[in-house]
Amino acid sequence: MPSRSESRTQLIESLMERFPHVPREAVIKEDLLRGGIAFDESALSDNENGEVKPKSYFIFSFDHGTLPELGAAALRRPPEEIVLTGGPYELRRTVVSVRVNPSSPYRVAADDNGVLGLYLDGARISDVGLPPMPDYYRHTLENGKSVMEVAPTIQWGYLIYLTVFRVCQYFGAKEECQYCDINHNWRQQKAAGRPYTGVKPMDEVLEALAIIDKYDTNKSSTAYTLTGGAITTRLQGKDEADFYGQYAKAIEERFPGRWIGKVVAQALPKEDVQRFHDYGVRIYHPNYEVWDPYLFERYCPGKERYVGRDEWHRRILDSAEVFGPRNVIPNFVAGVEMAEPFGFKTVDEAIDSTVEGLQYFMSRGITPRFTTWCPEPTTPLGKANPQGAPLEYHVRLLEAYRATMEANGLTSPPGYGPAGPGNAVFSVSSFMDSLPAEKAAPEDAITPATAG
Ligand code: SF4
Repeated sequence: MPSRSESRTQLIESLMERFPHVPREAVIKEDLLRGGIAFDESALSDNENGEVKPKSYFIFSFDHGTLPELGAAALRRPPEEIVLTGGPYELRRTVVSVRVNPSSPYRVAADDNGVLGLYLDGARISDVGLPPMPDYYRHTLENGKSVMEVAPTIQWGYLIYLTVFRVCQYFGAKEECQYCDINHNWRQQKAAGRPYTGVKPMDEVLEALAIIDKYDTNKSSTAYTLTGGAITTRLQGKDEADFYGQYAKAIEERFPGRWIGKVVAQALPKEDVQRFHDYGVRIYHPNYEVWDPYLFERYCPGKERYVGRDEWHRRILDSAEVFGPRNVIPNFVAGVEMAEPFGFKTVDEAIDSTVEGLQYFMSRGITPRFTTWCPEPTTPLGKANPQGAPLEYHVRLLEAYRATMEANGLTSPPGYGPAGPGNAVFSVSSFMDSLPAEKAAPEDAITPATAG
């Protein structure tokens, strides 16, 4: 009988064989994202004082253990991302967001010559590159705060991630989304004594962006995302559109057109969405989380209670009239469809449901995208499903996503950098790795809104 660890190698190889149209890189990337990676001390960063860009904890923990459970990786942070190349599967360059799991069968470690590799079941399966410390991380704000804390970059430097409100007003079991650890992550970062600003002051954000603008001389940073928890009442006297929108307004006034402005927020009424656009946001992510009505109700109790699924979807369609359908890109959390106890029991049913949602939006010119579910242990779904969703679901989703996109005459959404295996930088799912390279959306495809 094969050992548990041997069976993981067999699993990825059997899926590569069954789904030859899905890039091999994407099969491994999805497995790393759903199940995490163990890190040898040789592969950890020296936090903000070394040569490797550390994991910033830009919104959720995206780890498979709480900080105290991560051992050395809690003291010396892991890298923000890793890049895989070569090995027996001849991997093309693949950028993967780091999710730590000390008990993962995947391990990043240095060999006797100090060369890093990714090991599965003890066998080396690829070379590993680490992100270099960017110049802009070596400078601090006048008040001593780090750029990594105020304006971290992800996706190999492509995206500045501005979580300007680091908790969510959906609070507790009856409101929080059942896969989300934003509030727990806030508590654990504070408990660990790390700087973790709850509401980022505007002047700090602008100062950090000025540092990035100055030292990012080859202009790798291309977009910024404004996001954070839901605002159900008011925050600092502002509703959700004005709270997040005020940052876009200030950024666009100070650095006009320097970056593509994106906002991840709730699906808001059309007049609020219009304000986002007026403030200078160009891409809107009103995430629909999970398509199935029964699962949405259970997984997103706050959103269901305050807005409701049907209204949420209506608002997504309405927002296409403001931003143009190409620039409305709602996210879903790929994998929660199969979470115990409420999720689908078979991959077929889960894929059918997900495709129904994709078709609903794509037939209207709206291109959803997805992040791969990380079952964080402090969330109800993570606790009940520490292994996440079956890898087969994730692999088949890549195939189904591409097919639905092509059937609707769409191409990869704008604001994600290049598409295609070997080219993609989007790090929290492999949807961009799985699309054809020649169909990458040029960044200038971000079109003004059209009338309907
Ligand atoms: S709305 Fe849901 S997913 Fe978003 S931050 Fe709040 S709890 Fe998390």
